[in-house]
Amino acid sequence: MKNPFEKMPTVLTADELIDKAFRRAEKAASAATPRGGPRARARWREELRVRTVSNVIRDNLEKLLRRTPGVSELPTFYRELVDTLVERDQFHRSLARVNWAIKTVRNLEARHALKIRYSRDPEEMARLRRAFYGRVADVLRDIANDLEYLNRARNVLKDLPVVDLELPTVVIAGHPNVGKSTILRALTNAKPEVASYPFTTKGINVGQFEEHYLRYQVIDTPGLLDRPLSERNEVERQAILALKHLGDVILYVFDPSEYCGYPVEEQLHLFEEIHREFGELPFVVVLNKADVAEEGNMRTVEEFVREKGFEPIRVSALKGEGLDVLRKRVIELVRPMVEEHARRIMEAELERYREEPGL
Ligand code: GDP
Repeated sequence: MKNPFEKMPTVLTADELIDKAFRRAEKAASAATPRGGPRARARWREELRVRTVSNVIRDNLEKLLRRTPGVSELPTFYRELVDTLVERDQFHRSLARVNWAIKTVRNLEARHALKIRYSRDPEEMARLRRAFYGRVADVLRDIANDLEYLNRARNVLKDLPVVDLELPTVVIAGHPNVGKSTILRALTNAKPEVASYPFTTKGINVGQFEEHYLRYQVIDTPGLLDRPLSERNEVERQAILALKHLGDVILYVFDPSEYCGYPVEEQLHLFEEIHREFGELPFVVVLNKADVAEEGNMRTVEEFVREKGFEPIRVSALKGEGLDVLRKRVIELVRPMVEEHARRIMEAELERYREEPGL
């Protein structure tokens, strides 16, 4: 799946679009070599100006509408993100007003072109064309704010993360520097791709794992699941909500060595928060940096998470220790999801076959 807003074009401002249309019209008019007497030539040129201005504006705005997906039809993950970033009502309202502008320009074009065609006086023709220019400029100025808004929205939306919504997804959580990206690299075969993500300056890391028929992705979202909820703003909270629709498994990483800079106590608090937030998903709990962590700290963390019903795994992502166990645990959780997904596809196929036995 690609970013659904990838094809959304840059949106010109009202003034830029007016300028562009008028310039094109002048070019077209001076390049034209109409036949006939002065009146016929003037008529031809003025009508050409009107048609060109209308075409340039409508083409531009129609392309914008054609390439902008409707928010309501998006998969939930993207819908949540879009709702966070751009207000959906405003987004739709602005698109509707662009649609209105297209229709209005088309009507103005038809009316003025017709009047020019029936006019017998070149001055009258020029006056009609100028009147058309004025009306069109008014229409575009009417939607100037919408165009600006849509361009701002576009600049944000084109940076939405590119993740595969079909794949089972493991979301990594834990304080900064506990070793999340090292683990992500160790768990996935592919070199992780850094997708841009409007909520963090660092982007999100996405890596895929593939083995036989099993495929899943692991994502790490710096800035989102690595600090207490109270420190997050509304937008980030919404982004976390979106992650809930994407995630199938939470992989929580502790660093009992405390080299990450966060005392164990603080890490336990964050774990509780993330657990409260994502409680409905299965968790895999990892104690990383087992190569350098103190036994006492590791025990503290282990006792804490065991009490919550999890069996933690000690690993050293750096030395590659414990990773097989971790990978196996993740696969155990993900495999039924993949199978369930395959079963649904097969059932849909079967359903189709039942409806159309001739297939
Ligand atoms: P992130 O911010 O959670 O993604 O953490 P990183 O993966 O960037 O790791 C932070 C630092 O910890 C890096 O310098 C890693 O090399 C180091 N690190 C990661 N895993 C281990 C480990 O198992 N043992 C040790 N000693 N260092 C590790």
